[in-house]
Amino acid sequence: MIDCQDVYARYKMAEPKIRTKHKLTYITNISDIVKTMNTMVLYIVKFLSKELNTMVKHEPKTKEIRINGIYSKEDIIHYLREFVRLYLLCSICNLPELDHVCKKKYLAMKCRSCGNYSKCDLSDKVYKLMQQTISLKPKKKKENKIKKELMEIGVHDDDGIWCTESTIQERRKEIEENTFLKKLIQ
Ligand SMILES: [Zn+2]
Repeated sequence: MIDCQDVYARYKMAEPKIRTKHKLTYITNISDIVKTMNTMVLYIVKFLSKELNTMVKHEPKTKEIRINGIYSKEDIIHYLREFVRLYLLCSICNLPELDHVCKKKYLAMKCRSCGNYSKCDLSDKVYKLMQQTISLKPKKKKENKIKKELMEIGVHDDDGIWCTESTIQERRKEIEENTFLKKLIQ
């Protein structure tokens, strides 16, 4: 575990494991990290590529993140903490109690702790991606994509669940209303 402030300890963020090869840096335990942060790998990938201005890829086979360029473990910890500060902590009470709620035209943040409610800046690439992820409509997707999405919303509790319980319920309702898909959630 990282020696960190209380607010980060609340996440018990897994310490990143790094290896480098040629001119590439790999975060080998990203699944563990996102699980402890209660976020999704794709948001971290988007954030790192934006911040480092380099190619960052998630390799599903090895479950690693691959970054073009050489970065130290301290660098990676720094950026992961930035991610937490910017996207997971409430800007008012500083607690990691944010729910992201997708509305028709915007994405909102709602703090479960202090009740603060504000809109996210969708010119930010990470918020934009969150909006796209949360607003995915299952009925437009093919079956395998729906299964994947169900996993992402927590029907199968694996890695990196972002959506809140209420979001999951809403999504389940959507899926249930579509009889073609009904069997998938049984
Ligand atoms: Zn708050």
